[in-house]
Amino acid sequence: MSPPVERVHSDETLPDSADVVVIGGGIAGVTAAYFLAKKGHSVALIEKGWIAGEQSSRNWGWCRQQNRDERELPLIKYSLDLWSRLSEEIGADVSFRRAGLLYVTTQQSDLDEWEQWSSLARPYQVHSRMLTAEEAQAMTPGCTQKWLGGVHAPTDGRAEPSKAVPALAEAARKLGVTLHQACAARGLETTAGRVAAVVTEKGRIRTQAVLCAGGAWSSMFCRHHGIDLPQAGVRSTVFATTAAPEVTAGGLSTPTFVIRRRLDGGYTVSIRGRGRLELTPQGLRYARKFWPIFRKRREGGVKIRLGRSFVEGPETLGRWSLDGPSPFERVRVLDPAPDTSVVGEALAQLVAAYPALAGIRMAHAWGGWIDNMPDAVPVISPVPQLPGLFLSTGYSGHGFGIGPGAGRLAADLVAGDTPVVDPTPFRYTRLIDGSPLPPGPM
Ligand SMILES: Cc1cc2nc3c(=O)[nH]c(=O)nc-3n(C[C@H](O)[C@H](O)[C@H](O)COP(=O)(O)OP(=O)(O)OC[C@H]3O[C@@H](n4cnc5c(N)ncnc54)[C@H](O)[C@@H]3O)c2cc1C
Repeated sequence: MSPPVERVHSDETLPDSADVVVIGGGIAGVTAAYFLAKKGHSVALIEKGWIAGEQSSRNWGWCRQQNRDERELPLIKYSLDLWSRLSEEIGADVSFRRAGLLYVTTQQSDLDEWEQWSSLARPYQVHSRMLTAEEAQAMTPGCTQKWLGGVHAPTDGRAEPSKAVPALAEAARKLGVTLHQACAARGLETTAGRVAAVVTEKGRIRTQAVLCAGGAWSSMFCRHHGIDLPQAGVRSTVFATTAAPEVTAGGLSTPTFVIRRRLDGGYTVSIRGRGRLELTPQGLRYARKFWPIFRKRREGGVKIRLGRSFVEGPETLGRWSLDGPSPFERVRVLDPAPDTSVVGEALAQLVAAYPALAGIRMAHAWGGWIDNMPDAVPVISPVPQLPGLFLSTGYSGHGFGIGPGAGRLAADLVAGDTPVVDPTPFRYTRLIDGSPLPPGPM
């Protein structure tokens, strides 16, 4: 079942042309559309389902610098700065709260990893502090579990996935962006080897610039145009609880459950690393590139299974023509079923750790399909093989927090402006030119 998300109205009439067409109404597409419109460009945003219907409403809502890949640190710092001023800028609450994120553990190996990350992050002036066992205990009042230590990121925060992207989409509309939901982009037309139009199920939009921010569907979209984009999904389970006493104001990660305080007084709950890697034709195609990252994730608890995604969804290999229904119309909203064993286990562990939460219930559970890159770093980049095409995709399970900054960077690249941070780590060509693709932290 899809999680609730605030709905946004569509503009019924498709424009004949736009300076930029953005494909995908998740955080990557919506924020890019917002910043492009701020720069004065006309923008049409095309979404096959509804705004934030896929990953961008299904995530935990953690906006974190803590434990990020070094290549993403300048962009996440910029992004958190944006999060903290966006509400004022757009005149609506994007629901961001700098409530801090806390990780606690019973394992020395976690502490070693966090310590190592802290030294790596120090030159970037990221606010993060290692905690002794006593400090970790003091920061988890009411918790019956005993910790070996932890790490605290006081300036990291949380936001509500059900509210943030719809609020930003409305802000983009105020700047002139037209929003077209239930409108799949089937593909591109080209003239003299460069982008000339986007063909949607509702008509054609002439344009010289397209940003594909299609989340889990980006690889399929690119393949239709002969562009290789190695991408592989992991299915994950999350649930929201009924309202309950506050045991953390921000986010808390423990070895057996992860919680984030919600604005409605409940928690968003999951278990770190407990995803399901489903075997798919696309996954098998890119298996060699993904082997290092999936070996790492398997050690962390990801299971490998065969499921419906082998024959349906973003990782099938079928072909289509631009004048008939495409796979994007067949699955309006990717809504994988949650794994009930994760729900039961996380709830039991949460109540065992916090007796004050006895009586808390699962309010609703959902699944999410995480779009991974082989090195767990997104692609925010032009595609040299097809001038006029840009990508902002592959956020590998941590694109919500970095979303506003990523939108600004994508807008800079599309507009040809000086990029807000060095875009080199996010270049598309690293995936196909034989560059080493070391998997970063996830
Ligand atoms: C369970 C889970 C937990 C997570 N937790 C966190 C977290 O705590 N913090 C964090 O930072 N990140 C987290 N993430 C990751 C984060 O949610 C994603 O990285 C981010 O939302 C990706 O945004 P996106 O816009 O790239 O993709 P999406 O939100 O998936 O949006 C892509 C959109 O493109 C549309 N689309 C695709 N193809 C077409 C087409 N051809 N035509 C029209 N529309 C199309 C889709 O319908 C979709 O709406 C989590 C993800 C999951 C699933």
